[in-house]
Formats: sequence, structure tokens, C-alpha cells
Amino acid sequence: MTVITPITPIKQELKQVSRRGFITNLEGSRRGFITNYPNPTQWNPLNETDVMSREPLNIYVHIPFCAQQCSYCYYRVVTGAKRDEMNRYADALCQEMAMAAERYNLKDRPIRSIYFGGGTPTMLQREQLERITQGIRDNFNHIMPNAEFTIEGEPVSMTQKTADAFRDLPIPVTRISMGVQSLDDDVVKHTQRKDTVDRVIKAINIAQSVVPNVNIDLMSGLAGETMETWQNSVHRALETGVASITVYKTEVYANSQYFRDLRKSKIRLPDDDEELRYFEYAVDAFEKANYKPWSFFAYTKNGDYPHVHAPSLWRGEDYLPLGTSAFGKIGDQLFQNSNDPEKYMQTIESGHFAVNRGHKLTCQDKMVRTVLVGMKLMKLDLDFFQQATGYRLEKLCAPMVNELQENGFITLNGGEKPTELVMTRKGILHGDYVGKQLGRALQELG
Ligand code: SF4
Repeated sequence: MTVITPITPIKQELKQVSRRGFITNLEGSRRGFITNYPNPTQWNPLNETDVMSREPLNIYVHIPFCAQQCSYCYYRVVTGAKRDEMNRYADALCQEMAMAAERYNLKDRPIRSIYFGGGTPTMLQREQLERITQGIRDNFNHIMPNAEFTIEGEPVSMTQKTADAFRDLPIPVTRISMGVQSLDDDVVKHTQRKDTVDRVIKAINIAQSVVPNVNIDLMSGLAGETMETWQNSVHRALETGVASITVYKTEVYANSQYFRDLRKSKIRLPDDDEELRYFEYAVDAFEKANYKPWSFFAYTKNGDYPHVHAPSLWRGEDYLPLGTSAFGKIGDQLFQNSNDPEKYMQTIESGHFAVNRGHKLTCQDKMVRTVLVGMKLMKLDLDFFQQATGYRLEKLCAPMVNELQENGFITLNGGEKPTELVMTRKGILHGDYVGKQLGRALQELG
């Protein structure tokens, strides 16, 4: 006898997916052949142009030139570069951004921030800076009206002429960040830097005459540092009235002069406990002067002048890397350009990208990354984590969240259904510890 199977009514098939597109019928039935997920009946109207990402994009431009190789520095930098070499490098940057805008389809992405880092961008001449920023203007159609444009500089190369040029660039600079590291001449001498305190103060004044948003970096735990020299540095930094002060912990890498000097016992570095006391002292002094943290290592005057570039990256936005050594992220792809400046320029000149290595982010990577770099902002929006990953962090890592709470590193805001995970002062003093612990717990989920 022939059995005629009735055609499944469309309504009945649709019942197999909920309004949110989840599969609800997991019985052994052969009905409801799946062709897509989430179910297209749950999708929204879309225009042709919406198919391309319109998410904000951040641009990082790396300038490898420096006046000297500082003793603690492990970056590959170019010292003693001549004008011709810098011109050639500026040309390569312009060519790279034109290729990237076209081939990666980035022309119409709104540009939220531009960051010229290094190395020492202020080593470039006015004409070179103009050419690079004009290149950005020409290749990207939407620089957001309040886009941040930061340029890093070393005090020794921050002349009034250079700083004045920042104002007149095709995209005017809105923020200057200077690697000062120490405001104590004896400590500076151990770093091989050519700065002196007088010169640094002058450079800060010059930067402040151009933009109000001036950041200076200090390094806690340099060779020769004592609590006294550190206190002097912190107070001198506050006296300048800069918009923000960032404190980096000194890290010693095998390719630095510090490493070689340490092995020969030529220098002594403060140990971790001493360094922690220095940082704690700085945090107290910043609080008294009403400098408020926007990350666990950066403080702004009255809480104004929040930084845009780094937080955007830490919240998972894309960033286009331009220049040798530059790191970037487009979608789920992380990548870095060759760290050999000559190889970088040759590859770009031959019409290819100088991408050297990369990593495609997995779902787990994205979760770990969201907490690891996200916690630099001292708090994590738990709804944001759910939006980005599909999970509630406080449930997924409940034991670790409880442990961090019990040990006084974090608190949860929002009562029964927490909305925010916030670092305590203890969490702030321990830097990346909270992010690392949560990241490790997520990794261990397998
Ligand atoms: S100026 Fe900055 S990038 Fe250049 S060598 Fe010194 S620390 Fe490194």
C-alpha cells in the first residue's frame, strides 16, 4: 500500500524556529530541512550598501625613526635616518593606505581615531606629515567629525615649528602624547635618552600651546629610580597641568640594553614590590590632584579628555595597521606587518601588502580577548560581553568571578542580575591580573 506523506504546512515548519531564530524542534523528525541559521524569516530589511561593514575603523600609523635607542626599549627602531629614507617611508605609507582602502574595502568606513605611534613620529618633517595625513584624507571618505588624531612625540624632537605644523595638517592633530618616562635627570641618564628635565618641561609647554589634550607617559621602575626620584617625577608631572598622565611598568626584554646591563650587574632595577609602591604612590597623588583613571594605568585631569583610540581597540573595533611592525585587526583577522623597515618598503613598492603574520580569532579567542584587553578599562559591561559572545560572563566563569570578588579585586554592580564587573582599587593596582584570571578561566572551558 502506498503511503502518501502529507506536505508539511509552512506554518508548522516555521514553528520549528522561535522568534529569535533558535531551533526548537530537536526530535528525530525529518521535517524542517535546515538551510540557514538564524532563520531568514527573522532577518531585517537591508540595503545593498549595508552589506559592507559600516562599523567605525581606527587607523594606526607606525613611524620607526628615533633619535636614539633607549636602554629599556625593545622595539626595532631606525636611528640616524636621513631625509631621503623618511621620504621613501612616507611614500610607502601612502601607497599602503591606498591599497588597503581599495582592496580591504575600507573607503567608506567612518574613521573614529588616527594614531601616529612609534618610534618617534615627531622625527618626521612637516612635509612628510602633511603627505601622510593628506593620504588618509584622500583614501577614507568619512573622517568622523569628532575623530581623535593622536601623534606621539619625544620631547627632544618637539620643537615649536613641529608642533605648529600639527595644527595645519590636512587632518589637525587633536592629542599629543609624549614619552617622558622620568622627570629626574639622573634616572634619565641611565636610559640613554637625550632629554633633560628642563627640555622636557619646555617640550610639554610647546605641545600645550598647540592642543589642550597633552598626555605624558611615565615609567615606574626604571634603573636608578628610588622612592624619592619617583615622587619628584610624579609631582613635576602634575605641576605641568597636562591633560593626562599614563604610567607604564618597566618590562625588561632580552633585546634591550637594560637586559645586557642587568646581566653584567651594571644596573639595578626596583623589584616588583618596590615598583608596586611607586605605582601606589602615583595613584594616590593623582587622586589628590583630581586626575581620574580611564584605564588602570592612565589618569586624566578632572576626568576630562578621555582617550579614544586605545579604548576603541580594547572594545573590539577594527584597526588598520600602516607601516613596519604595525599590528591590526579587520573583522576576525589579526595581522602584523613585517618588522623589517626595508622589507616593508620593498614589498609595498612592489604592490603587495607587507603582512608578515596573523591569527584568525576563534569564538573562544574573542571571549578571552574581550575580558583580557577589555578589563584595561577597569570595568566590563556584562551586557556588552553577552552581545559580543552570546554568553553571560558571570555565569560562564562563576567560580573565578566569585574568587576575584572574595579576594577584593572586583565588585559586581546591578544586584541580582549584575550589569557590570568593576575593578576595586586593589584590582587597579594589580593591573592586568583580573583580565588574565578571567581570560584563563575562559580558556579552561576548553
Ligand atoms: S624613543 Fe621610544 S621607541 Fe624610540 S627607542 Fe626610545 S623608547 Fe623606543
